[in-house]
Amino acid sequence: MEQKSLVDKILQGDVLSAAKLMRDIENEAEGSAGLIEQIYLHTGRAAVIGVTGAPGTGKSTLIGALIRQFRSRGKTVGVVAIDPTSPYTGGAVLGDRIRMQGREVDKDVFIRSLASRGWKGGLSKATADTVHVMDAMGKDVIFVEAVGSGQVEVDIARIADTCVIVLAPGMGDEIQMMKAGILEVADVFAVNKADRQGAEDLKTWLHTTAGMKARRGGWTPEAFLTEAVNDKGVNELADEIIRHGEFLVSGGELEARRRERARLELMMAVEASLNSYLDRTDRTVVDNLIDELAARKTSPQKAAGQILKGL
Ligand code: GDP
Repeated sequence: MEQKSLVDKILQGDVLSAAKLMRDIENEAEGSAGLIEQIYLHTGRAAVIGVTGAPGTGKSTLIGALIRQFRSRGKTVGVVAIDPTSPYTGGAVLGDRIRMQGREVDKDVFIRSLASRGWKGGLSKATADTVHVMDAMGKDVIFVEAVGSGQVEVDIARIADTCVIVLAPGMGDEIQMMKAGILEVADVFAVNKADRQGAEDLKTWLHTTAGMKARRGGWTPEAFLTEAVNDKGVNELADEIIRHGEFLVSGGELEARRRERARLELMMAVEASLNSYLDRTDRTVVDNLIDELAARKTSPQKAAGQILKGL
């Protein structure tokens, strides 16, 4: 069976098969749902690291430096980049890849950009499924990069084991972030562009004003100065990410987070099933119910019950 062999190939780490499935996931191609079902059973091994922050803070550059860090520690790496503001074109994907990885292509690093479909106004099933494919391929560490805009951070924190928030001096967005409650979902802060004036002040501000309050389970986030372009501070940042991963395991927090993620995925699957059921529902049945509703012959609840009866 062709489908089975595609899954088998992905489980063996085959890049072309994984790329094909990721493309199908993004295009919601026929048959991809069944494959993802099989893939899901082989996931849960990778450490998923969310990396978010305002555009231009240096997220991509920092992930590039983190890739080198984790590769030098013998880890295989996946990157899922979601950018709702600038859907990547073929050229931009390549540009992005080169920016993160340098010109030498390392077969143990897999980078995939998701354009608008990966977003849809919030975290989508496509994003979660793309992470699953990388996990099933055997990637040890998977970075999920997204441009911060409020809800994004909260969503990223829901699918990641560890959430890294990237800030840079002179961006002036930290007050906004504090107001939006974004700083509260961070497990680790990276104050990037530490070569620029104001980086120390920003770090101090994070420690004092922003109040590094202990998170659930007793983890208190720390801020790290990094210079992604010069590979400075990235070693320490990688150490902290690993330390947080160990904390999650030892304190039972990993289990809790993964249960939450399972709940989220269940709800996304219910929503997807419901939407596809509604798409398949006879229009005339719906129209008749609308007529009855408008004439006050039934209630919205009763009408919904009529539609869902056949589910
Ligand atoms: P993103 O939009 O957050 O992904 O940011 P990019 O990684 O694209 O970086 C935005 C710009 O900041 C690029 O021109 C980078 O070269 C630059 N940049 C990244 N890290 C640093 C840094 O540590 N110091 C300085 N001065 N520039 C940096």
